[in-house]
Amino acid sequence: MNARLPPLAVAGNAAAATLAQRLRADVAGDVMFDAAARGRYATDASIYQVEPVGVVVPRTHADVVAAVAACRELGVPVLPRGAGSSQCGQTVGAALVIDASKHLDRIGEPDAAAMTVDVEPGVVLDRLNAVLRPHGLWFPVDVSTSAQCTIGGMAGNNSCGSRSLRYGNMVHNVAAVDALLADGSEGRFEALPAMASAPPRLRAIAAGVAAIAARERGEIEQRVPRVLRRVGGYNIDVFHPQSERPYTADGSVNLAHLLVGSEGTLAWSRHVTLKLAPLPRHRALGVVNFATLYRAMQCAEAIVTLAPTAVELVDRTMIDLARANPAFRPTIDAALIGAPDAVLLVEFVGGTRDEAAARLARLGVLMGDLGLPGSVVEMTEANAQKALWDVRKAGLNIMMSMKGDGKPVSFIEDCAVPLPHLADYVARLSEVFAKHGTRGTWYAHASVGTLHVRPILDMRRDGALKMRAIAEEAGALVREYKGAFSGEHGDGLVRSEWVAWQFGPRLTRAFEEIKALFDPAGLMNPGKIVRASRMDDATLFRFPPAYRVVPIVPALDWSAWNVQNDPVADTLTPPGTGGDPAGGFAKAVEMCNNNGHCRKFDAGTMCPSYRVTRDEVHSTRGRANTLRLAVSGQLGPAALASPAVREALDLCVSCKGCRRECPTGVDMARMKIESLHQWQKTHRLPLKERLVAQLPRWAPLAARVPALANLRNRVPWLARFAERRFGLASQRSLPAWRHDTFLGTGEAQDPAADVVLLVDTFTNYFEPENARAAMAVLRAAGYRVSPARPAPGDAAPARPLCCGRTYLAAGRVDEARVEAQRMVRALAAAVERGAAIVGLEPACLLTLRDEFLSLGLGDAAPKLAARAFLVEEFLDRANAAGELRLPLRPLPQTRALLHGHCHQKAFDAVDAARRVLALVPGLAVDVVESSCCGMAGTFGYDAAHYDVSMRMAELALLPAVRAAAADTLIVADGTSCRHQIADGTRAGGAREAVHVVRVLERALGESPAPASRR
Ligand SMILES: Cc1cc2nc3c(=O)[nH]c(=O)nc-3n(C[C@H](O)[C@H](O)[C@H](O)COP(=O)(O)OP(=O)(O)OC[C@H]3O[C@@H](n4cnc5c(N)ncnc54)[C@H](O)[C@@H]3O)c2cc1C
Ligand code: SF4
Ligand code: SF4
Repeated sequence: MNARLPPLAVAGNAAAATLAQRLRADVAGDVMFDAAARGRYATDASIYQVEPVGVVVPRTHADVVAAVAACRELGVPVLPRGAGSSQCGQTVGAALVIDASKHLDRIGEPDAAAMTVDVEPGVVLDRLNAVLRPHGLWFPVDVSTSAQCTIGGMAGNNSCGSRSLRYGNMVHNVAAVDALLADGSEGRFEALPAMASAPPRLRAIAAGVAAIAARERGEIEQRVPRVLRRVGGYNIDVFHPQSERPYTADGSVNLAHLLVGSEGTLAWSRHVTLKLAPLPRHRALGVVNFATLYRAMQCAEAIVTLAPTAVELVDRTMIDLARANPAFRPTIDAALIGAPDAVLLVEFVGGTRDEAAARLARLGVLMGDLGLPGSVVEMTEANAQKALWDVRKAGLNIMMSMKGDGKPVSFIEDCAVPLPHLADYVARLSEVFAKHGTRGTWYAHASVGTLHVRPILDMRRDGALKMRAIAEEAGALVREYKGAFSGEHGDGLVRSEWVAWQFGPRLTRAFEEIKALFDPAGLMNPGKIVRASRMDDATLFRFPPAYRVVPIVPALDWSAWNVQNDPVADTLTPPGTGGDPAGGFAKAVEMCNNNGHCRKFDAGTMCPSYRVTRDEVHSTRGRANTLRLAVSGQLGPAALASPAVREALDLCVSCKGCRRECPTGVDMARMKIESLHQWQKTHRLPLKERLVAQLPRWAPLAARVPALANLRNRVPWLARFAERRFGLASQRSLPAWRHDTFLGTGEAQDPAADVVLLVDTFTNYFEPENARAAMAVLRAAGYRVSPARPAPGDAAPARPLCCGRTYLAAGRVDEARVEAQRMVRALAAAVERGAAIVGLEPACLLTLRDEFLSLGLGDAAPKLAARAFLVEEFLDRANAAGELRLPLRPLPQTRALLHGHCHQKAFDAVDAARRVLALVPGLAVDVVESSCCGMAGTFGYDAAHYDVSMRMAELALLPAVRAAAADTLIVADGTSCRHQIADGTRAGGAREAVHVVRVLERALGESPAPASRR
C-alpha cells in the first residue's frame, strides 16, 4: 500500500475526447477537461472523490441542451451541480458535470398575489432572499449553507432548514419544475390537473408513476417513514403522502414533487417555481437550560406543542467551544443558567412584538409544568437573538476545524426519529459510538427529530470499517423507532445503498421503474438512489488507503497541523508528530472539507476573486483542492510546481479572508507563500515579481532621485514601456517617491520610549506625513514615542527595518526571514521593557503577529507579536482602559466612511479604527461593507490583474465612496486601498482617502500638547 494515488488521467477515453471536442464547438460556456479542473469537481462536502469525465459551465439553457444531447449521443452520463455542498456524495461521479452556479442564476419577478417566484437553478438562496426582502417576502427553507447553496441543489436534495417545523422541506415549497430530460424532451412538472396539457412524454411519465404508486400503495403505507424529515429514495408517495405534513395545503398531487429530492437522477431542472412566505415581523427566542442532554431530548416533544418555528439543540461540547472563544463568550454566557449540559433554542414568531413575547412566556410556564421552573432565558431583542444563532453556527465550525486525520464524518448525521423516541435514540447511539472508540457532538433540529451527529473517524485507516458498523447499528435503532435513515442531506453515495434497507425490495424496484420512466438510458447521475455502490467502497474515497503525500521540506512552520487526535480523550499529539511528509502543509491543505462557504458573496471578505469570477478554480475551495491534488501527486510529478497550482493561486489576493471566515481555518494566503516558495525550487521568478519583492532593498536608492523614479507616472510612453517590459498596468499611477522620507529626517531614537513606531517601507517612502501624524497624535496623548531603527551591529544599518511582506508575497521566505530577524533583534529591548510596537500599515504590522510566528524565529517572535499593535488598536485599548487623554476637537466634516484593509478585518481591527475615529467629537462613522479593495499590495498594479482588480473594487467599495457626500471623510488605513480609491475615482469626482491618524491629527487642531505621562 505504499504506492501513491495515480495522477488523474487526461480525459479518460476516446468518448471523452470526442465529447470535449463536440462541446467546444456547440457550447458558449466554459468547457474543462484538464486534470486539475476535473479534480476540483471530483469532490463535494462528502468523504468521496470521483473524477468526472469533464465539466461544462453553461452560459444559457441552450448550452445545457447541447451538452445533454452530446452526452446522449456519446453515452456519457450527466451530473447536474450547483454549489457542490452536498454531504453525501450526490455531486460526484464519472459523468459530465454541468455547473449551473455561474451563469444560470436569473430570478423572475416575484408574484405577490400567487406568493411564488420563478428562478433558474443556479440562484443562491441568500441572494434570492435579499431580492425578496423589500417585497416583505422570503423563501423559508433556511438551510445552513444558505450563503452558497443553489435552488437547483436544494430541490435536488429536498433540503430542509432549521424552521422546517413551521415551513416544511423543499418538497413542501416547490410549486413546479421546468425540466429537461436526458432524451431531450422538455416540459413543466406541476400540479396534476395542469399537466393535462403537458407534452405527451411528460403525460406518459405522470401516468406511469401514478400506476406504480397505485400498485404499491400498500407497500408505501408500510415502508415510507411517517416523519416530516424523510428525504431518502424518490417521493413515490406523492399520490398518498406519508409525511407528517402533506406535500400540498389542499391535498392535491403535484408531479414536481417527484423531482424534488431526486438528486439529479431523473432530469435537469431548468426553472423552479418556489412558494414564498411573508417575512415574520417579530421573533422571540427562549433558551431552555437542561442538566442533561437526555432531559433536553425528553422535553422536545412537549415544547413542539407550543408551535415554535424552531427548536434547536446545542450540547455541552459546543457550549464549551463557544465559551472558549472570547468573542462569543459573553453571548453564550448570557443564555446560560449555571452550567447546563444542553440547551434548546426555541423560537416563536408573531405579528406584533407582544404576540411573540406572549408565546415565549408560555414556554416558561410549560417548563415549570415539566419540573424545570426558571430554566428559560428570554431573548426578545433581534440583535441578541442573531448573536446567539451566530454562536451556534460558529460552534459547529469550530468542531469541523478539528486537526489530525480523525474527522467528524457525515453518514448518519441526519437520521430522523419520531420525537417520543429522540431521548432514547441519542442515549443508545452514544453507546454505539463509545463501543467503536469514538464520540459525537450533538446539535440542530430537535423539533423534527433530526439531530446532527458526526462520529470522529479516520477514513485513511479503520474509518471505513467503523463507519459501516456504526451505520448498521444506527440503522437498527432507526428501524426500531420507525424513523428515516436519510432525514435531511439525501442519499448520494453514502446512503443510496441504504435505500433498499429503508424501503424494502418492492419499493426499491419501483424506484428503478420510476428512474426508467424518466431516464431509460440511465444517463442522469447514475449510481445515486438506485443501483448504488457500497457506502464503504474505498476506491471512491477522497482519502483512500493508497493516499500518500509527496514529501517536501516546507519553508514555513506548519507543525501545528502535523498532529493526530484522539476522539475519545479529545486530545492532540504534540505539534510535528502527525506523520505528514510535507511537515504539516499537506494536513493544513486537507482541512478543507469542501463545504463551499468560500462561495458566499454577500458579506465578509472571503473570497474576493471568486466573487468577481464565479469560477470554482478561483475560490478558496478550488485552490485548496488543487493543492491537495498536487501534494498527493494526483496532478503529476511536478506537484506544487505544476502550472495548475500557479493558475489556481494567480488571482488569490492574499487577503486572509479565508483565514478568518473559512469554517475550518484554511489560510490560503499562507499556503500561497509556501506554494510560491516550493515553485521557485524549480522555476525562476519573473523579473517584475523579483523587483517588487526586493522593493525594500532598492527603495533607498530610488528615494535619492525621486524625480527620476517618478518619471514613469508623468510620461505616458514610459508607462506603456513599463507595461510591456515589467507587466505594470499602464492605467495605474504608481505611488510617488518622496524626498522628505520620514526616517531620513533623523528623528532621534529614544531608548526609554513607551511606544516604538514602526515606519514601514510604504509609509516612509511614499506617505511620510502619515508617520508624522502618528508621532503627533501619540505625543499629544502623552506617550514617549520613538521610531524603530535597526539594532546596533545590523548588517545594513542604513536600510530601514522591514517586515518582509513583499518577499513573503513572492514566496521568497528566506529573504523575508532575514528581514524578520533584523526586526526581532531591533525591537527586542523595547519588547523586554514592555513598550508597545505600533505600526500604521496593516499588511506590514500584522505580519509581526502572523507570518513571523511561522518563520522559525524562536521565542522572541511570540513576545514581539504580543506587543505589536496597529495604531488604532493601541489607542482603542488605551481608551477602553480609561487611559487615553487625547484632546480632540470637532472637525468641519461630520461624517466619515471607513474602509477596512483585509488584514485589519482578518485580525478584527476594523472596529478599533471605527471606535477611534468616533472619538472625534461630532464625527459619525460608517463602515463600508466591502470585501478586498482589489489592489491587495501589488496585485492590482499587475497588467494581467488590472481588470479583476477593478472589478473587485466595483463590487462595493468604489460605489460606496462615490455615493458618499463630498464632505464625507474617506478613511482607509491600507496604502494600497487608498491608492485604489484614488485610481477608481479619478474619472469624475476624485476622492482622496486618508489614514485614521491623519483624521486624528487634524482633530488635534492647535491644542497644546498635554504633559508627558512620565
Ligand atoms: C456545513 C453544511 C451544512 C449543511 N446544512 C444543511 C441544512 O441545514 N439543510 C440541508 O438540507 N442541507 C444542508 N447541507 C447540505 C447541502 O448544503 C444542501 O443540501 C444544499 O441545498 C445543496 O445545494 P448545492 O447547491 O450545494 O447542491 P449540489 O450539492 O450542487 O447538488 C445537490 C443535488 O442536486 C442536484 N442538482 C443540482 N442542480 C440541479 C439541476 N439544475 N437539476 C437537477 N438536479 C440538480 C445535484 O445533482 C445533486 O444531486 C449542509 C451541507 C454542509 C456542508
Ligand atoms: S476553503 Fe474553507 S470555506 Fe472553502 S470549502 Fe474549504 S473548508 Fe469550506
Ligand atoms: S486569501 Fe483571500 S483571495 Fe486568497 S483564497 Fe483566501 S479569501 Fe480568497
